[in-house]
Amino acid sequence: MDLGLSDKVAVVTGGSSGIGLACARMFLEEGARVAICGRSAERLSGAERQLAGTHGADRVLAVACDVLDPGRVAQFRDRVADRFGRADMLIANAGQARRGGIADLADDEWRAELELKFFSVLHPVRAFLKLLEDAAPSAIVCTNALLARRPEPWLAATAAARAGALNLAKTMSRDFAPRGIRVNSILIGLVDSGQWNRRHEEGEGGGKSKEAWFAELARDRGIPLGRIGEADEAARVMVFLASPAASYLTGETVEVAGGQGHHV
Ligand code: NDP
Repeated sequence: MDLGLSDKVAVVTGGSSGIGLACARMFLEEGARVAICGRSAERLSGAERQLAGTHGADRVLAVACDVLDPGRVAQFRDRVADRFGRADMLIANAGQARRGGIADLADDEWRAELELKFFSVLHPVRAFLKLLEDAAPSAIVCTNALLARRPEPWLAATAAARAGALNLAKTMSRDFAPRGIRVNSILIGLVDSGQWNRRHEEGEGGGKSKEAWFAELARDRGIPLGRIGEADEAARVMVFLASPAASYLTGETVEVAGGQGHHV
């Protein structure tokens, strides 16, 4: 199947690692040009080297940017417009989870989590809206988590914020459909990525190998497919949802969670 991505431009926030980096690589493999952002200049330049080395520096733009800073996001947008002249797809992917339950998360932590989950979407969407509209039919894909539908007590703020972000994506899909912009969400269960590598390096696996720890996590979480997902398994769905091949899908939610969601 041809995804119709040749010469399109994909913008991936949090494209310097994990799922976002896998999306960026796949967009390039499908013939698109790619702009990525992340906060850490070191992580970003590593990703840029990797992507440009395989697919050519002229097809890759990497800009250091915190998506919570609207001024920096606007600068990122301007760099994309200068370099590529358009944006056909926005993958709102930047983020991380915050561990903690109702009783132990401080108000500031709640606020920070709500800010991250809402404004990591709102700032890039607002900044790129005109470019997306000019490129219509175009698409936004929001990376979300299964937690949005299946909250866990040890991730109370993240789960609540994720549920709100899912609602926000639905609103955007209805608001932007007349402008030719589709909006869909992906709900990730547990996927091997930079954040899980860092947690393992910090000793969260209790000294077990990463493979043994992942097998234990899959067992403990009752993942029907019996394993943690790969970043590519999430990215394939996201690239499809962003592509013209998904032209009649908007306001939808796809779970990439190995069957972990219990609802029908
Ligand atoms: P990674 O840590 O590998 O990637 C996260 C990316 O987001 C990095 O590029 C990171 O770069 C960037 N990022 C984080 N905060 C910001 C910010 N404020 N501004 C700009 N960039 C930022 O993790 P994943 O690939 O797993 O995460 C991708 C998304 O998937 C996240 O939103 C995460 O919450 C979500 N998710 C992942 C799950 C999983 O099991 N992997 C489960 C559920 C949801 P830098 O730190 O340098 O800014």
